[in-house]
Amino acid sequence: MKKVLILGGGFAGVEAAIFLKKENYDITLVSNRDYFYIYPTSIWIPTRESKFENICFDLKDSQKAHGFNLIVDEVQSISAADAKVTLSSGKILNEYDELIIALGSSKMKHKGIDNTLSICGDPKQSLLIRDKVDELIEKKSGKICFGFGGNPNDMSAVRGGPGFELLFNIQNVLKKKGIIDNFELTFFAPMAEPGKRMGPQAFKMMDKFFKMLNIKQHFGKKIKSFEKNSIVFEDNSELESDFTMFIPAGDGHEVSKSSDLPLNAAGFIKINDFSEVEIQSTIRRHSIYAIGDIAEIKGYDWVAKQGHIAEVMARNVAFNIVQKQKGLSELRGYHEHLNILCVMDNGSGASFVFRNKKRAFMLPMPIVGHWLKKGWGVYCKYSKLGKIPRIPGM
Ligand SMILES: Cc1cc2nc3c(=O)[nH]c(=O)nc-3n(C[C@H](O)[C@H](O)[C@H](O)COP(=O)(O)OP(=O)(O)OC[C@H]3O[C@@H](n4cnc5c(N)ncnc54)[C@H](O)[C@@H]3O)c2cc1C
Repeated sequence: MKKVLILGGGFAGVEAAIFLKKENYDITLVSNRDYFYIYPTSIWIPTRESKFENICFDLKDSQKAHGFNLIVDEVQSISAADAKVTLSSGKILNEYDELIIALGSSKMKHKGIDNTLSICGDPKQSLLIRDKVDELIEKKSGKICFGFGGNPNDMSAVRGGPGFELLFNIQNVLKKKGIIDNFELTFFAPMAEPGKRMGPQAFKMMDKFFKMLNIKQHFGKKIKSFEKNSIVFEDNSELESDFTMFIPAGDGHEVSKSSDLPLNAAGFIKINDFSEVEIQSTIRRHSIYAIGDIAEIKGYDWVAKQGHIAEVMARNVAFNIVQKQKGLSELRGYHEHLNILCVMDNGSGASFVFRNKKRAFMLPMPIVGHWLKKGWGVYCKYSKLGKIPRIPGM
């Protein structure tokens, strides 16, 4: 039985483990967290609509349901030349036929970033955001700034949607509590038109939402630093803030940056359409794949790293490994599946955002959108735990 080593227990890694296990491969998955974190529904932790534990599930339960081996440890280094992976515990993994790298991305490091919290970083930060929001609700007034940044070396490593969602959710809570008029809410971003990659219609609608909800917009100025109670921009102008939630752009993972794998300028692993890492066969002793946020995604100027793309890449790689073992040449690529797809929640409803190479639209879904997203969260958890069947393609 072929041995496949998968590094990372997020959307990409777990999906690859599940689909390869179905094909009876001997799978070992390494994750530094012992739980799977459903990032898209974590936006409800700060508003107390969801508990942290409901947004996670134990990887051991998924392991039991699907039958893969699990190692909870930190990947310290990958050497393609020596065909080995070293873990923080000192353990060396070198007995595998295929390697799948799915460690996600690191984040850009801005000056004073410790004065901010992010909904897209360490999952535990969602609890700190919750405490900060509680504190401001207790105080009944304040200035809250939400924003996200870009990576000039890889435009696809941007994540703005969760910033919009969390801001709308917090606005909704403050409104329900009748204290919204005492708050100043601002959305800031260094780019002139944040959210434009969702498409022109979505961009216009976001502007409408901001105006309707009395949320100030501060766009087009590069960020110099984050201070305790303000954000300083390139022209030394300041934005006062009692609490700053900032999503730094993704950056290449430290493990890939220190490896001998081919990287783009931002440190993301270069792959072909089939997620294969193309490295000289003289030093390669097995196939290496990179999937999800850790990989360089090429395509259109609007493309963004997303969870459903990570899962498509994982399923493709599982399919391609089987095909190659059978000696078949028909492989599946990720490129044709590139799109932006998200249900952007606001606490009481949501908007369905979609963009591919042919069309881009945003469809408001009052009330039902919120429950659709909640339903997806439940589906995500229980289908990965093998308790409910998978819907094809989801
Ligand atoms: C708040 C939020 C909302 C989002 N909403 C959407 C959405 O609506 N739709 C959508 O498609 N996408 C969404 N995304 C994006 C989506 O979550 C990511 O694209 C997806 O998580 C990428 O999956 P991944 O497996 O590549 O990386 P990750 O999910 O980051 O998983 C990486 C895994 O590797 C582990 N790991 C990292 N380093 C090491 C190491 N050194 N050793 C061992 N293990 C390690 C981590 O613990 C983690 O388990 C959202 C993201 C966030 C943060």
